[in-house]
Amino acid sequence: MNIETLYRQVIMDHYKHPKNKGLINDASYTTIHLNNPSCGDELTIQLKVDENNIITDVKQEGNGCSICCSSASVMTQTLKNKSMDDANIIIHEFYELIKGYPYRKDILTGDAIVYQGVSQFPARVKCATLAWKAAEQGIFKIKEDKKK
Ligand code: ZN
Repeated sequence: MNIETLYRQVIMDHYKHPKNKGLINDASYTTIHLNNPSCGDELTIQLKVDENNIITDVKQEGNGCSICCSSASVMTQTLKNKSMDDANIIIHEFYELIKGYPYRKDILTGDAIVYQGVSQFPARVKCATLAWKAAEQGIFKIKEDKKK
């Protein structure tokens, strides 16, 4: 099996069996909704952060293409139990990978690396990054709220 086939299988597995799917009606979660009109993807993500700034839970719900929906599943798995600061660093490395730039292999680990081929398909970049942009906005919002 070549590496591209393996990556495609990981993406399809997350698409068919998404992790952390389904929203929670709980005011302790911060909710962000984003869409990607160029593809028709829409996504809602929820973050819960404890008093030590650790992301203790991440939920996702949405409709879209296999790249967008699988990436949302991978994002929840990747950022759960990380601190908000570490999550921001990981998100930045994911953007580097998506752009086809060198990325820190010690920081970005696990299933997220299967999206490195996306840089060859510029139209799919927004699909792959939508969930990560939502997480980034959620973290920003939580940090702003904590300053108050
Ligand atoms: Zn899409």
